[in-house]
Amino acid sequence: MKIGRFENSLEVFYGIIENKKVLKVDSPFSDDFKVIGEYNLEDLKILPPTEPSKIICIGLNYTDHAKELGMDIPDEPIIFLKPPTSIIGDGDNIIYPEMSKLLHYEAELAVVIGKKCKNVKIEDSFNYILGFTCFNDVTARDLQRKDVQWTRAKSFDTFAPVGPWIVKKDNIEVSNLNIRMYKNGKIVQDSNTKNFIFKVDEVVSFISKIMTLLPGDIIATGTPPGVGEMNVGDEVVVEIEWIGRLRNKVVKEG
Ligand code: MG
Repeated sequence: MKIGRFENSLEVFYGIIENKKVLKVDSPFSDDFKVIGEYNLEDLKILPPTEPSKIICIGLNYTDHAKELGMDIPDEPIIFLKPPTSIIGDGDNIIYPEMSKLLHYEAELAVVIGKKCKNVKIEDSFNYILGFTCFNDVTARDLQRKDVQWTRAKSFDTFAPVGPWIVKKDNIEVSNLNIRMYKNGKIVQDSNTKNFIFKVDEVVSFISKIMTLLPGDIIATGTPPGVGEMNVGDEVVVEIEWIGRLRNKVVKEG
């Protein structure tokens, strides 16, 4: 099942995508939602599929990426935050900020939380997950290298493309998904979630021991090898098997 957020000239709403239709639902985070309307997908703008209170990102989380960087496998996840104001959806533009001279893409699998939780055991993690979507952890690499904290490098408006929709957890085998990044149609990242250092259930449990997770919150699970530069005019597409493609273009600020 695919859950998305949509807009037409009248309203913004959550809906389930079935074939080329969107069924408007009253509460996408509940299992007993009601269908309260029907639209044609082509008549709607696709919005980011969730409105999180926070976006928590994992630093190094692919064994093949650690090898590429010549880094040791970390013994616990490195985490950082992106603000909710950095979110954009499928088809929206990534704005190249004037403050940076080196912008990087990072294809990532995103976990979307379905139920409020704190101090979750690893074996219970999946009870609190709604589903999964595509994410691009856009990074001003020059500013990341310059600053001790990564907040500036990770937080510009438009630095968190997410979507196009959430695939519910029961419809997907999250521990074995091909993940790719295409830049201008060429594959530049190509890996599989079986290369995770910390699995999805471990990551949710770890973060929930630090902060309360709320419905809609996003956890970006780290990027595979092959991160690289993108420039004004480039089109970047995150593609995750069984989920879909998240497409964004880079534009100049102003
Ligand atoms: Mg990242």
